[in-house]
Amino acid sequence: MSEHGKLWIIGIGPGAHDLIAPRALAALEEAELVVGYQTYMTLVRKLIKGKDKIRTGMTEEIGRARAAVDAARAGRKVAVISSGDSGVYGMGCLVLEVLKEIGWKQGESPEVALIPGITALNACASLVGAPLGHDACMISLSDLLTPWDLIEKRIQHAAAADFVIGFYNPASGRRQRQIARAREILLEHRSPETPVALVKSAYRYRQDIVQTNLNSMLDYDIGMLTTVLVGSTQTYRYEGLMITPRGYRNKYDLDSSAVRPGQTPGHTLKVPLSEVQRPWLKSAGSSEPSLP
Ligand code: SAH
Repeated sequence: MSEHGKLWIIGIGPGAHDLIAPRALAALEEAELVVGYQTYMTLVRKLIKGKDKIRTGMTEEIGRARAAVDAARAGRKVAVISSGDSGVYGMGCLVLEVLKEIGWKQGESPEVALIPGITALNACASLVGAPLGHDACMISLSDLLTPWDLIEKRIQHAAAADFVIGFYNPASGRRQRQIARAREILLEHRSPETPVALVKSAYRYRQDIVQTNLNSMLDYDIGMLTTVLVGSTQTYRYEGLMITPRGYRNKYDLDSSAVRPGQTPGHTLKVPLSEVQRPWLKSAGSSEPSLP
């Protein structure tokens, strides 16, 4: 190994060019070799004209990660790209695992840098309001690499803990059962009226947004390019916008900005859980949500 190579692991955001971080753009410009899944290479084709490329299909991630690491270790400037954020169900962790496998150490070639991107959860949320105003989590419904039992367990707990949930990989042509089961579990803990947004191809040419609820969500097309955002028991809609309140109303009067009686700014909120959350949470375990 003559010279130190460089390995950038880049998230290119949801699709639109002006949602790629300037730091990622600079890395793409400096890179000699760009490695990524065909669709994402196409999204940034104008930025990587004339560079060497390794494009592969969906199931060849390991080979792609190895090729990127080998080239960078040998001294080349390599960018591995994923859509959204490369660390979120992307190439980032795989590339780091390959580095571990070959015994790479900090200070050796290649120099490794991860550059964050706007993940689907953030991108999709921005198109429907502020659904992530309170605790949220993401769950991938793909059981290709994760046993379904574990996925189902995570849905159960996230549903019971009242997280806003962003479902990645919710369905594909032949994989529709998972999102239906996720909905069933959620209905054990949340009202059928709970706001749900189905955001397809956010910030891409074929962007499509459906605002629906837990009850009706399966009436619409949900596929590989969709992220499903499910509100918590606190999420509501106003003027077509999904809002998950941070809880200011528990402490302050929003009209006057005055602190509510018994509350102190900067100190723990003094309201019991049962007064903040809606009644059906108290009867978690019953499959019939009791509406107020
Ligand atoms: N690394 C990506 C996620 C890859 S997993 C990221 O951080 O966003 C692929 C899943 O991400 C898709 O099935 C879909 O659920 C979601 N996704 C990725 N890009 C999207 C977009 N532009 N619009 C809606 N969902 C998207």
